[in-house]
Amino acid sequence: MSHTDNCIKRDHYSKELKNTNVELVTVTGWISSIRSHKNIRFVTIQDRFGEIQIVAKRGTCNNDIFDMIPKLKEHSSISVNGKLQSSEKSPNGVEIIPFQINIISKAEKISPFNNNAKTLESIDTRLDLRAIDLRRKSLRDLFLIRNEILKSIRKYFYQNYFVEVNTPKIISTSTEGGSSLFPVFYYNKEAFLAQSPQLYKEQLTMSFEKVFEISSIFRAEASRTNRHLSEAISIDFEEAFVNYFDIMVRLEHIIKTSLETLNRFIKCQNIVIDIPKTQDVIPKYTYDDLINEIQKTGYDVEWGDDISPKHLKKLGLNDFYFIIDWPNSTKPFYVKDKSKTISESFDLMYGDLEISSGSTRISNKIEIKNKMQNKSMHTNLFDYHLRVFDYGMPPHSGCGIGLERFLMVLTNTTNIRDVSFYPRDVDRLIP
Ligand code: ATP
Repeated sequence: MSHTDNCIKRDHYSKELKNTNVELVTVTGWISSIRSHKNIRFVTIQDRFGEIQIVAKRGTCNNDIFDMIPKLKEHSSISVNGKLQSSEKSPNGVEIIPFQINIISKAEKISPFNNNAKTLESIDTRLDLRAIDLRRKSLRDLFLIRNEILKSIRKYFYQNYFVEVNTPKIISTSTEGGSSLFPVFYYNKEAFLAQSPQLYKEQLTMSFEKVFEISSIFRAEASRTNRHLSEAISIDFEEAFVNYFDIMVRLEHIIKTSLETLNRFIKCQNIVIDIPKTQDVIPKYTYDDLINEIQKTGYDVEWGDDISPKHLKKLGLNDFYFIIDWPNSTKPFYVKDKSKTISESFDLMYGDLEISSGSTRISNKIEIKNKMQNKSMHTNLFDYHLRVFDYGMPPHSGCGIGLERFLMVLTNTTNIRDVSFYPRDVDRLIP
C-alpha cells in the first residue's frame, strides 16, 4: 500500500476495459464495496461509467496489498494499477489483479445510508448528504437518463431551427400571478425571481421566430407535495406564426423522441425501470367534457373551477392526454381567447400529473391591454413589454414543460425530489 497525494493517472474507464488488448491498466474511482473471504478479497470501484472488480488472491498478489484490503473504507477515492484479465463472474466480464493501490482521498466516515440500497427510508438524510447519495447506482441512472433526455430534446429543437436563449431570472413584475413570487433585493429596489421566461420568450419570437430555453423557474409553493419544487427546471419554447394545436404536435414529437431515446438508453445500460408506452397521437379532452364527467362522479365542481388531481384520479385517466380549451378566467393574461368564455389553451397531463401548459398567445396590443385590465392588473408595470407590440408582434404560441415532472413520468418516480440534483422546497434551502 502506498499513501500518496499524487493521483495516479487513469488510462482506462470501466467501460473501456472489456475491449482493450492492454494487459497493464490503471483505473481510478471510488470504492463501492469490499468483500473478504478466506483467501480471496474483492474491491469494487465505481467510476463515471460503471464498476470495476479488483480481485486479490493470497499467494498471487503482493501480501501487503492482500492485507490492506479489509482496511480500506467504502467511498474512498483510489487508483489501482494491475493486470487485466477476463472473468465470467465479474459484472463487466473483466477484473484486475492489483499490483498497486493508491488511496487518493480516504473516506473518514461511514455513510449513514447503504450505498447499494434501492429505496431508502429517509429522503432527508439522503438529501443532507446529496453528493454521496448520488453515488448510488439507481439514482445515478435517473440523472444519466435526465442527461440523455435533455440531449435529445435539445437536438430536436436544433433540428427544427429553434434558437436556444437565456432570459433574465431577476425581474420586476410577475407573469403568472403574484402570490407565488420570491422577492429579492436588487440594489435599492424590490425585484423578484422569475416564475417563467414567459414575456421574454414571447418577445424573442419577434426576431428569432422559434426559441427555447431550459432553465430554472422559481415558485413560492408553500404546500408540501411530492410534485412541487420551489426551484424547478422548465423547458420552455415559443414559436411565431403557429397556434396552440401546432404546439401540441411539437409536444407529441418531443415525447416520442424522448421515449425512443429512453428505450435505447435503458437497453444499452441494462437499467430496469417501467417506462410509459409510446402514443403516436395523444388524446385531447375539452375542459367542458371533463368538468361534466367530474360532476357525474359526484364531486361538487362548477364550470370555471380548476380541475385537481383528485378529480382526475376519479376519472381514471391514464397515460398522456391533453385538456384543451380552458376557461379564460383560469389562464394568465397573455393567453388568447377562443370565445367569450374559453381560451386557446391546453395542459398536457400524465394520469393526474400536469407536465406542461401552453397556449396561443395574444399578439394584439389592445387585446392584451384589455385582458390585463379585466384581470385588474396595472398595465403601466408592463410598459416594457407592451411597447414591443407596436412593432409588428407576430402571432405566436408556446408552452413550458416541467423537466422534473416529465422525468417522474419517464422513470416512474413518485417523489420529485429524486429527480432534482439539489431540490429546493419550503423546508429545504441546503445543501
Ligand atoms: P400545478 O398546477 O401543477 O402547480 P402550474 O399550473 O402552476 O402547475 P404552470 O405555471 O402552468 O404550472 O407551469 C408549467 C409547467 O411547469 C407545469 O406544467 C409543471 O410541469 C411545471 N411546474 C410548475 N410549477 C412547478 C413546481 N412548483 N415544481 C415543479 N414543476 C413545476
